[in-house]
Formats: sequence, C-alpha cells, structure tokens
Amino acid sequence: MASVFCVANQKGGVGKTTTSVNLAAGLARIGQRVLLVDLDPQGNATMGSGVDKRQLSPSVYQALLGIAPLQQARRRSPHGGYDVLGANRELAGAEVELVDQPRREHRLKDLLREVDADYDFVLIDTPPALGLLTLNALCAARGVIVPMQCEYFALEGLTDLVNTVRQVHAKLNPELVLIGLLRVMFDPRITLQQQVSDQLKTHFGNKVFETVIPRNVRLAEAPSYGMPGVVFDRASRGALAYVEFAEEMVRRVSATGFGSRGSTVPA
Ligand code: ADP
Ligand code: MG
Repeated sequence: MASVFCVANQKGGVGKTTTSVNLAAGLARIGQRVLLVDLDPQGNATMGSGVDKRQLSPSVYQALLGIAPLQQARRRSPHGGYDVLGANRELAGAEVELVDQPRREHRLKDLLREVDADYDFVLIDTPPALGLLTLNALCAARGVIVPMQCEYFALEGLTDLVNTVRQVHAKLNPELVLIGLLRVMFDPRITLQQQVSDQLKTHFGNKVFETVIPRNVRLAEAPSYGMPGVVFDRASRGALAYVEFAEEMVRRVSATGFGSRGSTVPA
C-alpha cells in the first residue's frame, strides 16, 4: 500500500517542485516504487521529470474529471525511475469545473485507490495557492511536507498553512498530519538562516526534518535537461541531500507506520 504525501506551501518559489521531483528520484534510487502527481497547472514537476507537458493527453486533468483512467494518464519519467501523473495549463480549468462535481475535494483520493498497490510512495506537488487542487492533495495525503527557506517572513506564512492543515484535518481528512518542515536552499554562512533554523527547531521540535537541503546550483540547472537533480549530477551536494532526505522519509514511515494507509497513527 502506498504512503501518500503532499508537498505544500502557499508561497511560490520556495522549493516545492524541486523537492517533489528530487524526493521522487531519491526514493526511486533507493528502491521505492513512486508515483509523482503534478497538481500545478504550470506543469514544472512534469517537465522537470522529463515528460513533455505539451504532449500530455490524457493528463491528471482528464483523470480528475473522470474522463480518462489514471492508468492511461500516467507516464514513466525517462531518467527518474518513477511514474508521473503529469499536468499542463488545462488543469487550471479544474479549479472551476470541479466545483459542482460530487466529492469534489476527494477526487484525487478516489483516483489514487486504483493504483494503490502499484506504489510504495505517492508524492503530490501542489500549486502556490489554497484552492480546490491543493485541497484535493490535502485530502488524499497522510502527511504534508513543507519546504521552506529559513528567512524572516517564512514563519509568518507557516501559521496560515498550519491552520489550513488543522481545518482539513478537522473537516475533511482526519488522517492528515503535518509530517514536517524541510529546510531548503540553506546557506549556513548566513547568520539569519541559522537563527531561523534554530527557531524552527525550538517551535516545531521533531516536526523539522533532520535533513537540510543546501542551496546548490545543480538542482536549479537540472530541470532544463528534463532530469531531476538527483539524476543529473549524482555527486552534487543537492543530489546527495535529497537522497538522504529520501532515506529519512523511509525511516520515518517504517519506524512509525506513519503514512501508510490502514495503520493506526497518533496525530
Ligand atoms: P516552487 O515549486 O515552490 O515554486 P521551485 O521548486 O520551482 O519552487 O523552486 C524555485 C526556484 O528555486 C527554481 O528556480 C529552483 O530551480 C530553485 N531552487 C529550488 N531549490 C533549490 C536549491 N536547493 N538550490 C538552488 N536552487 C533551488
Ligand atoms: Mg512549483
């Protein structure tokens, strides 16, 4: 059975897509079967996995609207070693078109049931907004991974996200928990980043992942080659950090049963 996690943060440019793509590739590297779902109409996770968003039909959009089965919409990332349920601009329409559909917040969850046995992990990349698409991700997931830069205003945005997770937990998905905060684009030479990082640990304790992702230009270059950074330059510091993060995720899931459907998990 698959452990479903969504990568979310209402802010744009904080490393959601980079984390989704490289965690998928990192998990695949260590032998996990992974499906990456791109729920952002920008389709960056799709392109970054080496799947052309302009030649996607059916895509996650048709699958969500029940026009095509997921099995037909998923593709193999040519270099990543995982499957992709890709997105493109069409998906923006789903925000509106799903509104009057039955179980509109649970479409993705229902859809993923069809392929549950095929994967160990399902990762969902989300758009930088809290609309119906992100709600679908939060309803399908057991855990939320929140990438964040250790900057002063990062903490402010976090309050909104934590409240949203609480609300979804209370009203729509009682299984949902905030699994953790992932420090990304980290530069230890910047004192403020160290301070914010320490503050995060004080406030959130073990909800902060041990792994820290450094700022590393190879991670930023990889998407233009249609490859996850983990594959593009295996020895780069960014690649090594994401593989380490994948190992941490596997450890957390197997230590607590956290994330796998059907297990009892304390919130
Ligand atoms: P989001 O999906 O939250 O909008 P992205 O993952 O697209 O954020 O990242 C925003 C920008 O930062 C991209 O140009 C990406 O290549 C770059 N980036 C992300 N993580 C890193 C990192 N660890 N080191 C260097 N650049 C990064
Ligand atoms: Mg993104």
